[in-house]
Amino acid sequence: MEKGNMNKYQEALSYILHDLEFNDFIRYKNGNDVDKYHRQVLIDLVKKATPMKVVNWLNNKEMACCPVCNQAHDSEELIKYCLLCGQRLDWSEDEVAI
Ligand SMILES: [Zn+2]
Repeated sequence: MEKGNMNKYQEALSYILHDLEFNDFIRYKNGNDVDKYHRQVLIDLVKKATPMKVVNWLNNKEMACCPVCNQAHDSEELIKYCLLCGQRLDWSEDEVAI
């Protein structure tokens, strides 16, 4: 992913992951489970905070579904976060992600 297209969460995560790999690569390669666990928690958090396009527009675009948990949401409200799983949602219809 190009740096210019990253949000601040992705950028921070990318910096930390790069730092771990580069400066501490032996530990990273051996990767104990605690390291892996905490790394995954951050990756999941960043993923959740990064807008994902809604899917499966239903009923003439009155509803769309969360791309993660498939919960349907009313498109009139354009809620920022899925009420069920917390995924940040992108309601834009352009091909290029924000
Ligand atoms: Zn969801």
